[in-house]
Parts: sequence; C-alpha cells; structure tokens
Amino acid sequence: MSKGTKYIFVVGGVISGVGKGITVSSIGLILKNRGLTVTAVKIDPYINVDAGTMNPTEHGEVFVLNDGDETDQDMGNYERFLNLSLTRVNYMTTGRVYQRVIERERNLEYKGKCVQVVPDVPLEVVDRIKNAGINAKADVVVVEIGGTVGEYENILFLEAARMMKIANPEDVYFVMVSYLPTPSKVGEMKTKPTQHAVRALNASGIQPDILIARGDTALDEKRKEKLSLFCNMRPDRIISAPDVDSVYDIPLNFEKEKLSDKLCDIMGLICKTPDQSAWKAWNKFAKHAHNGKDVVKIAVIGKYFETGDFVLSDSYLSVIEAIKYSSYAVNKKPIISWLNAVDFEKSPAKLKELKKYDGVIVPGGFGSRGVEGKLNVVRFARENKIPYFGLCYGMQMMVIEYARNVLGLKDAHTKEINPNSKNLVIDVMESQKENLKKNLYGGSMRLGGYKAILKDGSIARSAYGKKEIIERHRHRYEVNPNFIPQLEKAGFVFSGRSPEGELMEIAELPKNKHPFFLGTQFHPEFLAHPLDPHPLFTAFVKACVASKKK
Ligand code: GLN
Repeated sequence: MSKGTKYIFVVGGVISGVGKGITVSSIGLILKNRGLTVTAVKIDPYINVDAGTMNPTEHGEVFVLNDGDETDQDMGNYERFLNLSLTRVNYMTTGRVYQRVIERERNLEYKGKCVQVVPDVPLEVVDRIKNAGINAKADVVVVEIGGTVGEYENILFLEAARMMKIANPEDVYFVMVSYLPTPSKVGEMKTKPTQHAVRALNASGIQPDILIARGDTALDEKRKEKLSLFCNMRPDRIISAPDVDSVYDIPLNFEKEKLSDKLCDIMGLICKTPDQSAWKAWNKFAKHAHNGKDVVKIAVIGKYFETGDFVLSDSYLSVIEAIKYSSYAVNKKPIISWLNAVDFEKSPAKLKELKKYDGVIVPGGFGSRGVEGKLNVVRFARENKIPYFGLCYGMQMMVIEYARNVLGLKDAHTKEINPNSKNLVIDVMESQKENLKKNLYGGSMRLGGYKAILKDGSIARSAYGKKEIIERHRHRYEVNPNFIPQLEKAGFVFSGRSPEGELMEIAELPKNKHPFFLGTQFHPEFLAHPLDPHPLFTAFVKACVASKKK
C-alpha cells in the first residue's frame, strides 16, 4: 500500500459546472473501492470566509458539516459518495486562507519577516491540504480547485499545488476536467478549447496526468489522438466522460475506462482488487435511477429556484438526493415538482393542486417572501391528510400554522418575520440576542451537529429505531418554550428535544390524526447517504406511497 499520502488535484478547464465535484467524489469512491483511505478537500476561490452568507440562488445550497462549517454543496457530494463525515479542515476559501495568514502575521508568527502573497499564502494552503490528509490518515487526498484554469481567482491555489509537486513529485498528481463542446451548426466535437485550457495549466507549471473529457457525447478515437498530441498526454490517460442521466453512474463509467487502475499506476500504488460486494451494492443503487415505472410524486415548496429564466434546483440539492435515496430504498422513482411558495400566497385556490401529489415538503428557508404561502400549504396538507415533511423553516411553519388555526392565536408568528406579534411561537434564542443586536449575522446561528432525545411511541422514534440522534442544524430561531403546554394540549407532539429538554427538535401529529405530519428543526437531508438513506425521509416516502394506494 501507499508509503506517503498522495494528493490528486482536480482542476477545471474551459467552463465550470461540468462536474468537477462529482469527478472528485467519483475518483474518491473508485479509489476507496481499491482499499485506499480517501478524503476530499474543496477550495472555493472567493473572498467569503464560508458559504453561509451567500444567496443559494447564486451559489447553490449551503452544506453544513457536523462541526458547523457552512460550506459548498460539493462537500455534500463528497460526504454522500464517500460515506464520510468531513470537517472544516476539508474546506477552504480565499477569504479563510487570507484571514489565517493575517491572523498569524498579527500574532508575530512570521517572526518579523515580510509576509508575501507568494509564497506565504500558498504555503498556508499547502498546510491546510496536508492537515486534511493527516486528520483522515488518508492514503489519498483528492483536492478540488474551484473555478477554471486561466482565472485570476484560483492562481494561488494552483501555485500551492505546483509547490507541492516540486517538493514531492511522486506524491502529487493532476486531473483536468475539461469540456468539449459540439456546436450545433458545426456538428462535431471540438477539442481546441481544451487544448488551450491544458496550455493555460502548463503556464502555471502544471501538466495534467489524466484528462476527463466531458461532453454531450463520448469522445471518439480521432479526437482522443488529437488531444493526446496537442495536450502532450498518453491517449490512455484521456477518459471519455459523456453526459449521463444520473450522477451515480459516473463512478461506474470511470471504471469502465479503468480509471482506478490508471490512477493507481500513475501514483505507483499497488492497490487491492476492487471490492466486488461494495461495487455490486453501488451498481444496484445506481440502477434505481433508471427504473421509470413505479413513481412517487413529491412537491417541494420553496423559493430559491429562479435565476433569470432558469430554475435552479441546486439550492435544495441535499433534499433532492435524500428523497431519491429513500425512494430507491422502497423501489420507487421519485418525481419531484418545484412549486413556488409565493404562488400559494396570491391564490389559495391553487392549493387544490396539491392533491395531485403523494406528499409535500417545505424545506429550509429564510425571510418573509413566500411565508404566508407556505403556511397555506401546511394547513392544506394537515387538513387534507397529505403527507407533509417540514425541514427547519418547514417545521417552524407547522408550529405557526397550528398555533394560528388550531389554538386560535391569529397573529402567531416567528420573530424573524413579525417581531411585534403578541404570540411569537418561534422566537430568538436568548444567547443569540446580543449577536443580532450587533449585526453579527455570520455568527448568530445554531450550526452543526446537536444531540436530540426522541419520545417513545412517536413516529420519529420508530423511524430512527433508537432513542438518541445527532443531526445538523442551521437556524437562528427556535420554538418558544412558553407555548409548548398549549400546543401539546391541543394534540401537537414534540417528539424530539435537546438533551436538556428546552429546544424542540422534532414536531409531529400522531398517526391516528394524520398519516405523516412531521417537521424537524434540523436538516436531516445532510445525513442522507446513497446506501444508507435517512430514516425520516424513508418514513415520509413510505407514507406517501401508502397514501397513494388509497
Ligand atoms: N429562518 C429560520 C431560522 O433562522 C429557519 C432556517 C432554516 O430553515 N435553515 O431559524
């Protein structure tokens, strides 16, 4: 096996958004399957210290790690493909790197020397990458450098990679994921942009060891030869990666091209033969995506969908994946519809359309837009016994709706939207008040993994099959304890609480009142894994399937 840790840098050529994150995840998976301990690092080249302050329509979902780090959605892909729990050492941004360099300078850690962009910034990057490897006791660290080659933003990260390579040529390797367009008027796949991208990478002192040739279709021999000649690479190191219907096919396609053999060969590692049983399980799981017969129809009511004319379901990536895993586990193909919460605000008549779906999810969210629409949806789902699953904001909506329409507290609300309400059933935590007063929004949330204790006999308790859970959070507001006795008296059940009992983690209605009406203050979607679906999503999907049969 490996002597020292190996590092594989994955960089993008031509355009972004063609699957670098999935490439990293898939390379990780196929190497893990060869008996190697793998971890992954994501580098985001923007100034934001983390992804927490970014609008999801611009940057996609904010993926929260167990230690509370607010990161990029690719971290979710890594965790899901590799079945790992990553921490903040696996994630960095330009802002985070500079922040640390400046902090160290202020602490005199550079011992009076002039602190320079090069080499001090890349050296900080190198330290971080190595730490991720040490932390995971990894044989291989797969590092994704965000953006594409030729941009200003990621130059220092490429420089860090180059410095690592020159220091330990046997330990550092490069994969370029590049796009080969097929212009409709030309009708043939063009290699020139990729040739330029490889040259741009060469200009940073880096030669790719593997080229992942992304495109609408497979790469043919002629173009492979061309790329080989002009990019200075062996043809067998150029991997054809055409578009696929499901990202879970990608590791399988990579292995059809014998990528793990090639990587082990390049890195000089003698690896185990592939783990057949793990591979079989992945194969079986990936096949579900192609089963089109038995569907379950789920509506997701959100608002972070629209950028111009495009609908961006990326903002809810983990929710989508969690629905898939649980649906596949019960042999169903999910059909997910995106419904805009705002539409239910203006025309309550539209609510009837919800009857077309087997279940409804209100995912996490912030701010007032669409809130009354979501509340209308919750009421409709409760009164019409449509399976309902509320995630974070979606659970807060359940509490507000119940307080308004069952307890009769007409102005019940969350402090986030109406701080003047007399019935703040969702309120700010005492400990957060100071932060909010000082506008310290970046540090005012309950973030990351927290323990909860489940109530015997509840839906949650039976779904999890255990009494104690840890789930990931990302929210400022909580159920106001003052209203709990009233809510409980009216039949509302808090089936998950913090160990001290004061924070409400799961709310539900008993089975005899509703087939599935459950919400979580945390985000269960972050802990759903392909071969290990999340128990609450599975319970929800099962309820959707059951209610469909009636
Ligand atoms: N806006 C709510 C809060 O801050 C819910 C957040 C969420 O859904 N992630 O508490």
